[in-house]
Amino acid sequence: MPERQDLERRTTELLQRLIRFNTVNPPGNEQAAQEFLRGLLEGAGFECELLAAVEGRPNLVAKLRGASDGPSLCLLGHVDTVLADPSDWSVDPWSGELRDGCVWGRGALDMKSQVAAEVAAAVALSQEGWRPESGELMLVLTADEEAGAEHGARWLCEQQTEKVRCDMVVNEGAGEVFEFDGRRIYSVCVAEKGVFRFTLSTHGRAGHASIPRIGDNALTKMASVLDALREPVPAYELSPEPEAFLRAMGLDTSDLDGALHEVAERDPRVAVLLEPMLGVTLAPTMMRASEKINVIPARAELGVDCRVPPELGEEHALARIREVLGEDGYDLDFRETVVGNRSPIDTALMRHIRSFVEREDPGAEVTPMVLPGFSDSRWFRDAFPDCIAYGFFPQTTMDLFEAAPLIHGADERIPVSDLGLASAFYAELAVEVLQ
Ligand SMILES: [Zn+2]
Repeated sequence: MPERQDLERRTTELLQRLIRFNTVNPPGNEQAAQEFLRGLLEGAGFECELLAAVEGRPNLVAKLRGASDGPSLCLLGHVDTVLADPSDWSVDPWSGELRDGCVWGRGALDMKSQVAAEVAAAVALSQEGWRPESGELMLVLTADEEAGAEHGARWLCEQQTEKVRCDMVVNEGAGEVFEFDGRRIYSVCVAEKGVFRFTLSTHGRAGHASIPRIGDNALTKMASVLDALREPVPAYELSPEPEAFLRAMGLDTSDLDGALHEVAERDPRVAVLLEPMLGVTLAPTMMRASEKINVIPARAELGVDCRVPPELGEEHALARIREVLGEDGYDLDFRETVVGNRSPIDTALMRHIRSFVEREDPGAEVTPMVLPGFSDSRWFRDAFPDCIAYGFFPQTTMDLFEAAPLIHGADERIPVSDLGLASAFYAELAVEVLQ
């Protein structure tokens, strides 16, 4: 097993290097970063392939095979990032500067850090002569995650299926510690919510704005809709992941309203993050009406980003929307519908995560969670129904509440000690799973 300090140094240097490749998506431009990573992994003995759906934006698939058949463990990551406005930052977002014990730059959390930790672990193991006894260790480093994965994980899983077939995936989505009521809790992302975005429209009759009553204003009809969306959570619903999550926090799961109320009183930050796990959420984000200021609009439109618990479809979403908005007075069109999916909770992979956390942070809790957003794990679960896909990147120096606002935000950074911790986790996991 590689030394922790060695992994920390390797991961830190690699992360600094990766941040210096500008892979802001769009346009992504991941080629140079991917070729650099291929060089590292090939040099350490991995079989590597760059697979591109479009020119200049390859995905990297690297494999280290064992002597016999067995399970395949895939360490997954994306190398593209969201944009950064340098004028908001205290350092150059593409400098990878080391300051105050942290590496700074766009991607330091989401998720060049995890890519660096995974690659550093894989390279260190292989250079020390380790090989899987059975099965194979895979690294799948994708392009285009931040813009929907059309050229990345989605394309790989749908169009290059055999190249990325695997039994276990460890991806992004969770792992930063948080404290609640004296407990230290690490979460593992085992499921992703579905996306059911819709346009809601109200209707009236156009007319000259100088004589307001001559028309029938579709825009003012939005007032009651917006008012109803102020408290946008329909009835809470329990599913296996939030149930386990509430238990890990020491809360009673038979009274969800009571439990959430208790959490909000003790730490509102936890309540804000917990609530989306407990059902359908509705967030109005876009609006349009008249094209001209002197014309009363005959039609107004509201864009609503609606997220639905895993495995539930349009019918369920619609029932919850009607609960909040009533039946009448508007039309509704879904314009994007993706059903969320989940992996089982009680698996060997979860036991490995628990035992790692127990060694690193004795007495801490490990709990499954549902990601309110979306990650590449979804495509792997869809393509390979038996594949267990989890998000876990352990962080203990920087907690969840410190990390969350930095993701996609200014001054994104990560403590060097967390880089060593994460890389040690990936190295230990590979050795334990592929023995
Ligand atoms: Zn990400």
